[in-house]
Amino acid sequence: MKQSTCKYNCSLKELITAIDHEPAGTAFILDEDEKLCGIVTDGDFRRMLLKGKSIDDHLSKADFGEYVVAQKGESMEALLSKTSKKIRIIPIVDNAGYLVDYFVYRHQTRFTPIAEPTLDNTEYRYLMDAFTSTWISSRGKYIDQFEEGFSNYIGCEHGVAVSNGTVAIHLALEALGVGEGDEVIIPDLTFAATINAVLLAKATPVLVDVDLESWTISPDEIEKAITPRTRAIIPVHVYGQACEMDKIMAIAKKHRLKVVEDCAEAHGAELNGQKVGSFGDIATFSFFANKIITTGEGGMCLTNSSELDDRMRQMRDHGMSREKKYWHEMVGFNYRMTNLQAAIGCAQLEKIDQLLLRNDNFEKSYKDALDELGLIQWQEDLPGRRKVVWLVACLSDHKEAISKILRDNSIDVRPFFYCLSDMPIYSKYKFSNKNAKHLSEKGINLPTVENVDYKLIKELLSKIDR
Ligand SMILES: *Cc1c(COP(=O)(O)O)cnc(C)c1O
Repeated sequence: MKQSTCKYNCSLKELITAIDHEPAGTAFILDEDEKLCGIVTDGDFRRMLLKGKSIDDHLSKADFGEYVVAQKGESMEALLSKTSKKIRIIPIVDNAGYLVDYFVYRHQTRFTPIAEPTLDNTEYRYLMDAFTSTWISSRGKYIDQFEEGFSNYIGCEHGVAVSNGTVAIHLALEALGVGEGDEVIIPDLTFAATINAVLLAKATPVLVDVDLESWTISPDEIEKAITPRTRAIIPVHVYGQACEMDKIMAIAKKHRLKVVEDCAEAHGAELNGQKVGSFGDIATFSFFANKIITTGEGGMCLTNSSELDDRMRQMRDHGMSREKKYWHEMVGFNYRMTNLQAAIGCAQLEKIDQLLLRNDNFEKSYKDALDELGLIQWQEDLPGRRKVVWLVACLSDHKEAISKILRDNSIDVRPFFYCLSDMPIYSKYKFSNKNAKHLSEKGINLPTVENVDYKLIKELLSKIDR
């Protein structure tokens, strides 16, 4: 709170720094004796500028007039009765007049979404460049640039951009020749796109359990589920955590299985210093608007095999021969990404490390604010793995109460995915899911967006009965 206070004669620059520090957008003004003598909101600040003040001018007593204040110990009802449409922030002082806390009336708070894309001038410039070039379909420089840039970033030879993360998985399976009669082992705790893509390829999914610690597919369960019909494994780096790719690749080698890594939630995650997406035969990524980086809708398949790269390029483009126009050598699809999407992707790629760091900091802020309540168990940082924060993920015995109170306050929390095998349409594919069930029942995702009001969340969660 100290950072949102400033002296009665401070510069407007100091003032706006203090205002900017609080999500509530208010600075508390202190007099010579450090006692509260006024408050200035961001609206007041705007009006000062309109009146001709400049950022280097100093605050004067005329700039902050009357304000409503409460005494320490006043009841919630008393605080609420002091608020109005205009007065949303009530500073609370002790008997001597020192600021001790403040109350914010948040009835009309902004909705806090679970995630939102970070789009700025670079995305806009590249997008407009693609637009004015008239290369708005699936050819153009940004496609090549995005494929090359992203595959380089992950550490793979080839990148094939596609229309979304689901068709990326389907394309990978088709390119590997996985289809009818083949079993594909996937984790029971993942987004349904993983299993839907397997079913689209007419293969048979086999849903196996995850590890309790990492929440990712269990190598032991994979081995147990292998039959003579098993053709492929799709490890999912769920909620940004890297699967045990070393063990999984060893199992795959031993049983001659193909591996498609589903990296839709883990751009930049690592195992032993190597980025996920560079271990399997093919890796798939999603660039949906709430993923770590976005192209609106979009996806990519990465591989180190030039043969698979060729096949995927041909398949995403109707199966048309790459040498002979309108000559089709295989049954293909239209899974292409547009140059417009790729333009946004190129701009996003420039800031991916910044976004990952920002998300790490979001997680840290939640931990700092909420740890002492003892309500929440955070996703683990495991030895040898660099997990990335997509949505902040945690477990709690009070999942329902936490979700309800945050939702009631316009904060979009999400439950973990349901176990796929718990849904009637997928239940017949179940192999094992004890841990997945436990995690799904306890798991919560918290928003990874700017301006989360950690103080408010702490306040709200501290009211939960246990
Ligand atoms: C988001 C997601 C997908 C699908 O991506 P889309 O681009 O939305 O089709 C696939 N797998 C997982 C694990 C995901 O989270």
